[in-house]
Amino acid sequence: MSEAPKKSPVHAEVCLALGATRRRLESYPPRETKLGVLPVLRTLPVKDRRLIGPWCFLDRYGPLSFTDGRPMDVAPHPHMGLQTVTWLLEGEIAHGDSLRGEGVARPGTVNVMTSGDGIAHTERTPAANSGRLSGVQLWVALPDAHRRVAPSFQHVAEVPTVEPPGGGGLVQVFAGRLAGASSPARHHSAIVGADLRVHPGETLVLPLDPGHEHGVIVLGGDAALDGRPLDEGPLHYLGTRREEAGFASRSGARLLLIGGPPFPEKVLMWWNFVARTPEEIVQARADWEEGRRFGEVSYDRPRLAAPALTRLARPNPAS
Ligand code: MN
Repeated sequence: MSEAPKKSPVHAEVCLALGATRRRLESYPPRETKLGVLPVLRTLPVKDRRLIGPWCFLDRYGPLSFTDGRPMDVAPHPHMGLQTVTWLLEGEIAHGDSLRGEGVARPGTVNVMTSGDGIAHTERTPAANSGRLSGVQLWVALPDAHRRVAPSFQHVAEVPTVEPPGGGGLVQVFAGRLAGASSPARHHSAIVGADLRVHPGETLVLPLDPGHEHGVIVLGGDAALDGRPLDEGPLHYLGTRREEAGFASRSGARLLLIGGPPFPEKVLMWWNFVARTPEEIVQARADWEEGRRFGEVSYDRPRLAAPALTRLARPNPAS
């Protein structure tokens, strides 16, 4: 009689890049969830689509207006094995971390926090704010060879904006290279992240790396690709083998494009950790709960407690 396989003590989400070997146009519905009081659309990971290149997490929030309180207010929590990338369309988010790193994200800036093997941070709407909030929060899985790099925080005050030679709109490149522009943000694998604006009645044609897989979400307006309308909400997966993509719009559109070579490693995601083995997650959770490794961030509220290991702890910094 063979022994039953030993059950892992950690209910982690196994994430593989099912990188297509050809071009695709598939849409994946997002999941509605909450980041504290803030409603978010969890666009990645979703069922059947866990990674796009090294991108392993994408939350869309807003646009919203507020007159009191702070829609974004996430108490100290840990990360490992990833980079967080904060890109805003409207409003402000103040970042503070255990390295004493600080930076206010605003439209046109990008905040990139590299966790390496461990960092803790807070994210909150600052007291001085515009009363508006709209943006995305992304995570990038660190490749195995770089996942224990020293933690760091980078605030890029203004990312490059470029108009592709064919016109049709504007591209802000916040990660990697696209259409001749390069983001100063430092990453550890090939990657692209950009905010696309398509002018009304025009088509924005972007040169793409055919070895990369790409995904887009519509941030506003109406857009179509390959003659198919792209709804706002779902993640649209474009596959690989595209030398270019032409985004058309009748009344103007704004889109977020992410991509990279299909990530060659299987990762485990549990809560705010990206790992390779359940044992690493067990250790990281214990280190956070016992006040080791991740450092401290000064804040006026208690740090977040880690969920139970046996719970499927979907990535959610405020859970
Ligand atoms: Mn976080």
